[in-house]
Amino acid sequence: MLDFSHKDTFRHGIHPPENKDDTAGLPIRQFPFAPVLIVPLSQHLGKPARVTVREGQEIIRGQTIAEADGFMSVAMHAPASGTVRRIGLAPSISGKMVEAVYIEPLPASTQEIADGEPCDIDSATPDEIISAIQAAGIVGLGGAAFPTHVKLRPPEGKTLDTLFINGVECEPYLTTDHRVMLEQSDDIFMGIRYLLKVTGTPKAIIAIEANKPDAAEKLRQACPADLPVEVRVAPVKYPQGAEKMVIAALLGREIPSGGLPADVGAVCCNVATTAEIGRLLPRGRGIQERVITITGPGITKKGNYRIPIGTTVRFALEQCGAVDDISRVFMGGPMMGPSVSNLDMPITKGTSGITAFTTAETGHATGHNKVFPCIHCARCVEACPLFLNPSQLGILAKNEEYEKMADEFHLMDCFECGSCSYVCPSHIPLVQYFRMSKKMVRKVRAAS
Ligand code: SF4
Ligand code: SF4
Repeated sequence: MLDFSHKDTFRHGIHPPENKDDTAGLPIRQFPFAPVLIVPLSQHLGKPARVTVREGQEIIRGQTIAEADGFMSVAMHAPASGTVRRIGLAPSISGKMVEAVYIEPLPASTQEIADGEPCDIDSATPDEIISAIQAAGIVGLGGAAFPTHVKLRPPEGKTLDTLFINGVECEPYLTTDHRVMLEQSDDIFMGIRYLLKVTGTPKAIIAIEANKPDAAEKLRQACPADLPVEVRVAPVKYPQGAEKMVIAALLGREIPSGGLPADVGAVCCNVATTAEIGRLLPRGRGIQERVITITGPGITKKGNYRIPIGTTVRFALEQCGAVDDISRVFMGGPMMGPSVSNLDMPITKGTSGITAFTTAETGHATGHNKVFPCIHCARCVEACPLFLNPSQLGILAKNEEYEKMADEFHLMDCFECGSCSYVCPSHIPLVQYFRMSKKMVRKVRAAS
């Protein structure tokens, strides 16, 4: 059971160093085009998009290059004007090779972005807005990459009363959402207009952590008088940005085990996703670039960049002055971001940042990563925001008792925040165990 006795926050959780100062004050800059952009057809949870271009075809920046294949799918758009060089496999963060469109940008092009059919906020119906969001290829930009139009439809029989705009950004190092809130307030409020109309919710809450007072102030001042929006500030604590935690913290409502925000009358949308809805729909455009933070001790030119989708991690690191002894790169931040195993994988819609670390921080050179036996200190139990028992789950994972983990110890509720691993004095990679165990449970359940 969650505990709401602490005002505007949740119990448990941790306080890792924030490390946001290097980039929080740096305005968003446009990133250059790489010689080749690799656009995977599956950048979201659900069915891959269906490609609509062929090899050798000239395309225009912003043009639809793949359309949604069913409701659990979204469209893809050209990140640059150029030529489709190849349609083939590319590395992905899941470790699997996935189908992708390889685009060579045209050096002589002005790189104007193609407009499409506008979605007018006043005349569009909720269904038309849902279709426009899907056609714009919009997914959760906070990292989840869940198709946004799907989560906006409440399940049968559920009524929504609160739209949550999530600007918490609790992940260390990342300042993407922070900069979007400072620089794109008009887009955010336009996005909220679409979202209020489509969800039928009477009010919106923008949730921000206390380490971003300038963003809270900016949004309070910029909020149009006719919009029912409240800006709420929560104390800094990790993982406050998780949907379950932010709804618990600011609404005092507990999402049941295995449930969704809709079960407690809420719908949650990341603030950068909201800004993209407000920026793209009035011009009928799709996502062909996104804002990311590129940072970490292994980067000399840290910053917040609007980067074309399909830019490889290798090109991004080269442009940002990566140092020689980088030992670990994360897609996202170091707490929840998956580790990059192949630098030739592309940045996708779900990539909120790249953080690069050298051997000095990751401990490869010093042996600090050596794993020791569990000493039953219970620090992991005190850290878990869902009141799970990571120590016990870790023992079961080692014994490959996956079904018991799921049935008796709520493994599937774990959202892989990494708090337990972070505090473990024995350096037991608990979250890696849980990630792998969840995959095994899903595999077994799918087969039965
Ligand atoms: S990774 Fe899972 S088990 Fe560990 S603290 Fe987070 S939610 Fe709890
Ligand atoms: S924090 Fe680590 S050592 Fe302590 S109980 Fe949990 S798994 Fe064991």
